Amino acid sequence: MDSRTTGIEHVLDVIVVGGGIMGSCTAYQTSMRGYSTLLLDQFDFLHNRGSSHGESRTIRVTYPEPYYSSMVLESSKLWEEAQSQVGYRVLYPTNQLDIGKANDRSLQAVIRSCQSNSVDFRVLDHNQVTQEFSGGVTVPEDWIGVVSRGAGVIKPTKAVCMFQTLALLNGAILKDNMKVVDISRDMGSGCIVVSTATGEKFYGRKCVVAAGAWMNKLVKAVTGREVPIQPLETTICYWRIKEEYERDFSIDGRFPSFAGYGSPYIYGTPSLEYPSLIKVGVHGGRFCDPDKRTWIPDPELMDLLKLWVKERFGGRVEHDRPVSSQSCMYSMTPDEDYVIDFLGGEFGKNVVIAGGFSGHGFKMGPVIGRVVADLVLLGEAKGVEMEHFKLARFDENPKGNIKEFAVQVGTSKL
Ligand SMILES: Cc1cc2nc3c(=O)[nH]c(=O)nc-3n(C[C@H](O)[C@H](O)[C@H](O)COP(=O)(O)OP(=O)(O)OC[C@H]3O[C@@H](n4cnc5c(N)ncnc54)[C@H](O)[C@@H]3O)c2cc1C
Repeated sequence: MDSRTTGIEHVLDVIVVGGGIMGSCTAYQTSMRGYSTLLLDQFDFLHNRGSSHGESRTIRVTYPEPYYSSMVLESSKLWEEAQSQVGYRVLYPTNQLDIGKANDRSLQAVIRSCQSNSVDFRVLDHNQVTQEFSGGVTVPEDWIGVVSRGAGVIKPTKAVCMFQTLALLNGAILKDNMKVVDISRDMGSGCIVVSTATGEKFYGRKCVVAAGAWMNKLVKAVTGREVPIQPLETTICYWRIKEEYERDFSIDGRFPSFAGYGSPYIYGTPSLEYPSLIKVGVHGGRFCDPDKRTWIPDPELMDLLKLWVKERFGGRVEHDRPVSSQSCMYSMTPDEDYVIDFLGGEFGKNVVIAGGFSGHGFKMGPVIGRVVADLVLLGEAKGVEMEHFKLARFDENPKGNIKEFAVQVGTSKL
């Protein structure tokens, strides 16, 4: 397909809509393979109105679903590869600590998943949890801790910037402040036409939509169909560590990234990005319109968080209120599994959508980029259990994939 046959001046191999971690990793992959690539975002690159900005994301192999654990193992290798290409680090290794009731079904599934994926891990009883972290973490008698390797903290804005830089070095074109308002098929040439609010049209052989919390809006505008991806507004909080314990809770002091199973599911990262502050957040929030957010924390979840910080960190972290908080968005599917599939219809296999990362996608960026590039360029992706991510699962059951444990993200209405 060139300008002689299409009559169109410039046809790109791949147009990627969305410059968050998923779109940026996809553009990196397609450009690295020698395909001409255009990456578009509706806002300034590295903006903070989506899901991929900020100072820290955890990477951990410990998932209740074994298919995610194996994806993290591939992603870890790809993070290393990208870092060695660019020459600086975005991922800072540490251990992961998962705590919860010994009989918690998700935590039990995590242990089984670690076993089946040969993950290096240890199970600790409540006394051992306290000893392991010099009294910094306390849990009730009927709780356990799972300490695993292969975890760490990723700096998200720096990481997105890294993949955009590498894509640029591979020859990709990057354009921001380009809101895509339509994607259609040029009947004469068969090209995919991507139209922006600024009135520009870009022509591509293939297109990837990685629009984060705007996915449903964009897909609906293009096809008239809904995809079950619901934006959710969440907040992360930074808490002050008491002076004498600052090193104990730092990544240099070997404090882990962590998750507390139960309701609510709580997660956090060791002190790294801001000296003497530790990040702890609730894995949840309120459903929202991505263009009309409140930008304020949910008071109910904040109370639960204060209590958790008080009880788990044994008085070594000030729990009365966080010293800083930041708003962010998740893109929730009903089963918290991703959506990675062909858009279908008139687009056949030429348009792939990648979204619904449900608050646990960042660590997977590099492997998602690889898989999405395979799908859009080759028509199939190997090495990942793609059946979990198909759109058709919602036709069979509106709640999606059936799991033996409860969903982990807590939600409240506005
Ligand atoms: C507070 C918080 C903590 C998290 N912690 C973790 C963690 O510890 N570990 C982990 O693995 N994951 C974590 N996540 C989840 C992870 O950050 C997300 O899954 C991931 O960033 C999603 O990336 P994305 O590229 O799909 O979405 P986004 O980053 O939102 O990117 C989508 C992009 O598409 C653009 N766009 C949308 N519509 C259009 C359009 N019409 N035209 C052009 N551009 C458009 C948007 O502007 C945006 O830049 C966390 C998320 C949050 C919010």
